[in-house]
Amino acid sequence: MAGFFDHLVTHHASWRSGIFVSALMALAVLEIIRPRRVITNRPQRWFNHLFLGAANIILLRIVLPGGLMAVAIFGHGNGLIGWLGISGWAAFFISLIALDFVVYAQHIGLHKVPFLWPLHAPHHGDRALDVSSGLRFHPGEALVSAAIKAAAILALGAPLAAVIAFEIILSAASLFTHANWALGRVDGWLRWAIVTPDMHRIHHSRVAHESHRNFGFFISLWDRLFNTWQAQPENGHQNMAIGLDDMPDDGLTATLNRPWRQWVQKP
Ligand SMILES: [Zn+2]
Ligand SMILES: [Zn+2]
Repeated sequence: MAGFFDHLVTHHASWRSGIFVSALMALAVLEIIRPRRVITNRPQRWFNHLFLGAANIILLRIVLPGGLMAVAIFGHGNGLIGWLGISGWAAFFISLIALDFVVYAQHIGLHKVPFLWPLHAPHHGDRALDVSSGLRFHPGEALVSAAIKAAAILALGAPLAAVIAFEIILSAASLFTHANWALGRVDGWLRWAIVTPDMHRIHHSRVAHESHRNFGFFISLWDRLFNTWQAQPENGHQNMAIGLDDMPDDGLTATLNRPWRQWVQKP
């Protein structure tokens, strides 16, 4: 037990980058072998999304130099887990499940709180979905998300190994759930436990009420538990329109400027 946690902490950088790059490459290949939908403007979207992904990593390094790991070290022994005296695997799994719930709740907040929606809208502005869409987050959303996760880690007193595992799972899950990969019947089996590409595609529907379903990031339980679950899109996966009606997918600069424009328009 301690061996696994120590190993994860010592080699976190290799695990993080190794799993992220492997998942990105494997899913990109699987999208070519077994695509779910036809995608046309791939080079431009990939450039934009890789740029946003890299910019967010650099921004978070500047704002929070030690990342969420530093927050976990700072909060160690305190928070709910520290006060209840929970340790070992129990603390590890409780933290993973609780942090996944926080990300689910945060996602609902990004949609429902008028001030926050302009930060999340650029993610939904994508008119197609593939593995690269899992990197398409406005830097403003990345900052808000990091602040919420940091607060949750402190409130929980989440152990360092759990925070590292959570970040690895979250980045891989973001790539997987956006992948344009036809999983066939396997999608139906996997969704009993985790969020699948077909599940998350419904969340990107241009039909407004469908985009308020399937908020989960990794564990699919929360959507079933809190009645935000939808099994299939009304127009089918091949015919459903993806994106936002009021947001043409109009390039990187427009995407980055979008929140400021929206806040000014709707004070
Ligand atoms: Zn969303
Ligand atoms: Zn998404």
